[in-house]
Amino acid sequence: MSRIRLLPEILASQVAAGEVVERPASVVKELVENSIDAGARKIEVSARRGGISLIRVVDDGCGMDRDDALLSLERHATSKIRTSADLAAIATLGFRGEALPSIASVSRFRLTTREPEAVAGTEIIVAGGRIETVRDGGEAPGTQIEVRSIFYNLPARRKFLRSENTESRNIEHQLHLQATGHPEIAFAFVRDERVVFQLPAASSLAERIRDLYGKELVERLLTVEESAGSSKIRIRGLIGQAGVSRQTRAQQLVFVNGRAIESPVLTAALREGYHTALMKGQFPVTFLFLDLDPAAVDVNVHPAKREVRFRDPASVREAVVEAVRGTLESGRRDWQQQFQRPSEHAIPVAPQPNEPSPSEQREFIEAPVSRVIPSRADGEGSHKPPETLSPQEPINVARSSQQFQIIGILNKLYVLMENQDGLVLVDQHAAHERILFEELRRRMEEQGVPSQRLLLAQTFELAPRDAEWVERNVATLQKMGIGIEPFGQNAFKIDSLPTFLDVSDPVSFLRKVIDSLKSASNGSSAMRLGEEMIAKTVCRHAVKANDPLRYLEVEKLIGDLLECDLPYCCPHGRPTMIQISHTELEKKFGRKV
Ligand code: ADP
Ligand code: MG
Repeated sequence: MSRIRLLPEILASQVAAGEVVERPASVVKELVENSIDAGARKIEVSARRGGISLIRVVDDGCGMDRDDALLSLERHATSKIRTSADLAAIATLGFRGEALPSIASVSRFRLTTREPEAVAGTEIIVAGGRIETVRDGGEAPGTQIEVRSIFYNLPARRKFLRSENTESRNIEHQLHLQATGHPEIAFAFVRDERVVFQLPAASSLAERIRDLYGKELVERLLTVEESAGSSKIRIRGLIGQAGVSRQTRAQQLVFVNGRAIESPVLTAALREGYHTALMKGQFPVTFLFLDLDPAAVDVNVHPAKREVRFRDPASVREAVVEAVRGTLESGRRDWQQQFQRPSEHAIPVAPQPNEPSPSEQREFIEAPVSRVIPSRADGEGSHKPPETLSPQEPINVARSSQQFQIIGILNKLYVLMENQDGLVLVDQHAAHERILFEELRRRMEEQGVPSQRLLLAQTFELAPRDAEWVERNVATLQKMGIGIEPFGQNAFKIDSLPTFLDVSDPVSFLRKVIDSLKSASNGSSAMRLGEEMIAKTVCRHAVKANDPLRYLEVEKLIGDLLECDLPYCCPHGRPTMIQISHTELEKKFGRKV
């Protein structure tokens, strides 16, 4: 007796459904993708009880005639590919011909569809994979699919569903992905008879994001500078400015050829691109689109088509890192403009400041405050000389490049400043770290970090894998001011360290550096390695939080900070400054609601 047999069609579909249909959100994903592939301009999704009781997707796409409608429910039936060459360069979201039969095999399924020109449409009702009814139907041109009682015939799978709330949220997230990926399509989502969102067709990505996530977020996004370098891959979209981050990856959206995907390669690239602009454990906010030759990506690697494989992951990674970096640095220009002083005529002509001695410094130094008569930039002639409130102790803010006005220092740490938008608080410590970091990085790029000879050169041994790593990175380490060279099998000699370092035990310091760099360096460039090293050591050198600073130093600090490539955060991604706008103040004081 033969023990092997072919599975009945329905059972085979249920097996396939195990991979394709994980939860209601996966049904939504497949159906919406079909609607997009069908050229829909408008897609409406409804879900009841987390999609467990009902999912309905209605589109105004090309529809199907009766034969196609019946065929669409067969396994391996697709209109999207014909030859294996097509499989190598997929331009549609679907291609496997598996979704509809899989979904229909694990639910009560109803399909109505009509082609635009046809006089009548078709209605097909399926239960657990068995076709029960086929008849004329279908009102408006397009396709409407209803999926009820998901997994009603597979109680074991049904048990794996989460709460209705969680399933709803998954659906909503899925729709966010689709709606962001296709701003030109109108989307609506109705949850338990309540409209969650109704998005008109948008003329740009920014418009769609605004409709979906609100104006505040859009204002904190930067348009990705289109990469000039590599022509094989086009990168566009919007990404969060430095300092904009989330605790989860929920707003880290990446699309490859219009498909929302999750990719370790791209996640790493984003992290590297943001590098010092991201706090530990935080995720960037991105709406990033990569367009590349379909033949350069394999989309047929994941059952839910959520992942892709790049033919040349290194170049994709490089392109993304460059695009993100360039964009973040360009963000600085807009940011600096925001930093206009309250009025260019507000500089008090003042005598030299009496520098307060540290002992005179109180928690809140009453620095001279100049009240500035607000004036519009174009309001020529309307400026009055500023009213100086503490004439006995004014600050000299004569440097013409300065775009801020220092008011004082809070708690010996925060510099209070005024700019056009309101109040700015700067963390001196974080600011100093950023400045030093960029200075050292520049030196490293140019001629290497200056180093200082140790009194005694030391030799030491490393574990083979560490030794191998050091050998590969000797040149970088030397550029970073670490005088290290191989000294026999797994052994090294160290004879100098960067001048700004003050370590008593060079060898144990080096072991620590190697440990932390090794884990950080996974595949990243030598430059990035150097940055990492600087970021990790620079803290020691930065101003200690309570160092009493003199006014002139504070001014220089702020001036230098403004010249930085990424002034708004320290090398560990913490903010260097916080802006409190006039509007926020007015709200707090109840002047405005
Ligand atoms: P795939 O999308 O991989 O081709 P599906 O099982 O999802 O496989 O769909 C099978 C076929 O049914 C599609 O190739 C398409 O021709 C047709 N189809 C599915 N959904 C729609 C729709 N909303 N509008 C028009 N045609 C559709
Ligand atoms: Mg499909």
